[in-house]
Amino acid sequence: GQRALLASRPTGEIKDSDFKIVEEECPELGPGEVLIKNIYISLDPTHRLWASDQPQYMACVGINNCMRASIVGKVMKSNSRKWKEGTICGGMGGVQEYFVAKEASIYPVIPGVPLPLNLSLFNVVIGLTAWVGVNICEPKAGQTIVVSGAAGAVGSVAAQLAKARGMKVVGLAGSESKCTWLKDELKLDGVINYKTEELDVGLARCCPDGVDAYFDNVGGKTLETMLTKMNRFGRIAYCGHISGYNSESAAVSVNQFQMILMRRLKIQGFICVDHMDEMVKCFAELLDLYVRGKMKVQEDIQETKVSNYVQCVNMLYTGKNSGKLMMKVSEE
Ligand code: NDP
Repeated sequence: GQRALLASRPTGEIKDSDFKIVEEECPELGPGEVLIKNIYISLDPTHRLWASDQPQYMACVGINNCMRASIVGKVMKSNSRKWKEGTICGGMGGVQEYFVAKEASIYPVIPGVPLPLNLSLFNVVIGLTAWVGVNICEPKAGQTIVVSGAAGAVGSVAAQLAKARGMKVVGLAGSESKCTWLKDELKLDGVINYKTEELDVGLARCCPDGVDAYFDNVGGKTLETMLTKMNRFGRIAYCGHISGYNSESAAVSVNQFQMILMRRLKIQGFICVDHMDEMVKCFAELLDLYVRGKMKVQEDIQETKVSNYVQCVNMLYTGKNSGKLMMKVSEE
């Protein structure tokens, strides 16, 4: 099957030449191994970091290795007593059509929900990430939280969780249609299209009582501005800084960071995989909200081939995706 191998470390945005598409036979199955056909391949902002060799929270992808990605797929052949042929599973399958997995490295999908939900809401890097970050924000009813990347996969879950906990939620997003979705469907209390309205102006309009918590998905200039808008004892969940992922020099601004001291802010970096022990509790809450219609999910499913990976993943860094981005590379 087709595989996307990392050919070179991207500089700036990811280019077609950074990946080599190859057609390879799958190796024979060893004892306890299964052959998986990928159906959905998750595309996540962290792909840009994994493709680089900058310091990060897990090993980067090696040159000439298949690009790392989580998947939902189907067991096609099995040498494992645990996995029957035809079973749907999740795993770190990579950007490829087929892969061979050890039986312990794949896991069951959530029963009774559409398959893409396993990559959108019920995904450690989405649902659990949003849940942990909202907890870091110490939600208090009536207080104001701002969520950047609010129409995105993590941001939209975070915004709805904060709302479910009684907060006043203001979302930042980069297009009118995203803002309309946030306002009309998710019923956020305020929305700011940061591409058409100065953030200062939008915040003055939407947050007359200042900002008590900030769930940051984008970093950069937005974070710098937000630091100056925080109320005392505010909380910031530093989830990601996608605005800097394509830049070669990660410039740090010192001035704004002194606000952390002046306003006694707590800013906590966090990584979802350190919170696996909370996953069951988290997914139970998300499922409850979901079945009660209080957790809406938007998915951006690109039906395409592995060879279109670069074009698809770059949608994340230009904001062309609407909701959780994934490729569908074979039928369910
Ligand atoms: P999204 O679905 O939110 O897609 C990315 C979105 O980011 C785009 O749609 C775009 O929305 C926005 N964006 C892109 N470039 C910029 C920019 N220069 N400035 C501002 N916004 C930009 O992706 P995810 O929900 O999967 O990820 C959101 C964030 O969470 C990322 O930073 C990611 O790295 C982080 N993350 C962190 C985890 C952790 O454990 N800490 C785990 C998973 C994700 P718009 O059109 O509104 O600009």
